[in-house]
Amino acid sequence: MKITAIETFVCHARMRNWVFVKVVTDQPGLYGWGEATLEWHTRSIVAATEDLAELVVGEDPRRVEHLWQMMWRQHFWHGNGIVRSTAIAGIDIALWDIIGKIHGVPCHQLWGGRVRDFIRLYCHLGGGNLESFYETPVDNAKQFADLAQKAVADGFTAFKSMAVPPTMPIEGLKPLNAAEACVAAMRDAVGDDIDIMVDCHARPSPAMGLKFATALDPYGLYFFEEPCWPESIEGLATINAAVTTPIATGERMTHLAAFRDLFTARGCEICQLDLTHCGGFTEARRIAALADAYRIALAPHNPQGPVSTAASLEFGFSQTSYIICESVHDDVPWRSEIVTEGYELDLKTRTVKPNQKPGLGVEISEEAVKAHPFQQEVPQRVFYEDGSVGDW
Ligand SMILES: [Mg+2]
Repeated sequence: MKITAIETFVCHARMRNWVFVKVVTDQPGLYGWGEATLEWHTRSIVAATEDLAELVVGEDPRRVEHLWQMMWRQHFWHGNGIVRSTAIAGIDIALWDIIGKIHGVPCHQLWGGRVRDFIRLYCHLGGGNLESFYETPVDNAKQFADLAQKAVADGFTAFKSMAVPPTMPIEGLKPLNAAEACVAAMRDAVGDDIDIMVDCHARPSPAMGLKFATALDPYGLYFFEEPCWPESIEGLATINAAVTTPIATGERMTHLAAFRDLFTARGCEICQLDLTHCGGFTEARRIAALADAYRIALAPHNPQGPVSTAASLEFGFSQTSYIICESVHDDVPWRSEIVTEGYELDLKTRTVKPNQKPGLGVEISEEAVKAHPFQQEVPQRVFYEDGSVGDW
C-alpha cells in the first residue's frame, strides 16, 4: 500500500481559510481527510504541505509513527515551527483517518475505545460570528450579557467570551473594572449553573494578567485562558498559583518539549493543545500522556473547520482527561454544506455522541469547497492609544 498524492483544498470561511488535506492512496477509494488551517498563513501552509509530500508520497500510509518521524526530523529542520507543525498535523490526521478506514472503526477505537458516553460542547459568544466575539467592546457589559443568554437559549451549558481588553504592559483600574463588569453581567444573566470562560488572547503582560485573573477570581470562571504570552511560562505559573480559577493555555505550542516546560512549571491546569497545530494525533497523544502525569486537563483549541472538530471529538472520546470541546457553529452559514459528519449532535443539550463511522467519520464535499476559493483573511490588528503595537 502506498501514498500516491497529498492534496490541499482551501475553503474561504471569512475569518479563516480552512485548509483541508487529503492523503490519497493506491487502493481504490481509500483516502484520508486532515485539516491544517492556520489563519493568515494559508499560502505558506499549502506550500509546506507540498514540501512534506516530497517526503511521504510513495511510502506506506499504515506506518503513521514512522512517517511522523520523517516529517518532523528529516531534511535537518525539525517540525516545531508553527507552519511546519500545522502542515505535519494535516497529514498526520489524514493518515489516522486512513487507518480507521482500513480497520473499519472510528479513530477513538484505535486508541483503546471510548472512555465516555458523550462530550459537551462550548461555544464562542455569537457562535463564532467574528463581530460578536471579537468586536463586542468591553464597555458594553449588557451586550455580553445578551449574547450569553443567547448561547444558553441555543442549548449551550458553557461559553467563551473575550471580556479582557487589549492593554499596554501596565495600565490602571479602568480595563480591570470594564472586564469585571462584563463578567458580572454575564454571571447575572445566566446564573451559577452555566460555565463561563474568558479568553485573554495573551493580550496582557504577566503583571496585567495577574491583575485580571485576581479581579475575576470571585466569579467562578470555568477557565481563564492565555492570561499572558505563551512564551512567558514563569508568568503563567505565577498567575496559576495566585488564583483558584484554572488557567488554560497551549494553543500556540507546537511540540512535546514545549508542553513539558509548561507542565513542569505548572503554568496551567488545562492544556489547550491544538490537534491541527501540534503535529496531529501522533504528537497530541504523547502530550496528553505527559499531561496525565501532572493531572492537567485537556480542552483542545478548535475554532477552525469541521475536520478539526471531528479530530477533537475522536481524541476526546479516547482521552480520560478531556473535559470539553470548543465548537464554532455560526461562523459561516454554509458550514454544513461542506461536510458530512459521523458524530451525533444533540442540539438541545449541545452534547455529542460518538462517531460510529470509520476514521474521523467526515466527508468533505470538494464541489462545495470550490464555491469558496481563497481570499485574504480579514485583518485583525491592534494598536494602543499611543499608536504602539498590541496583541490582537
Ligand atoms: Mg484562545
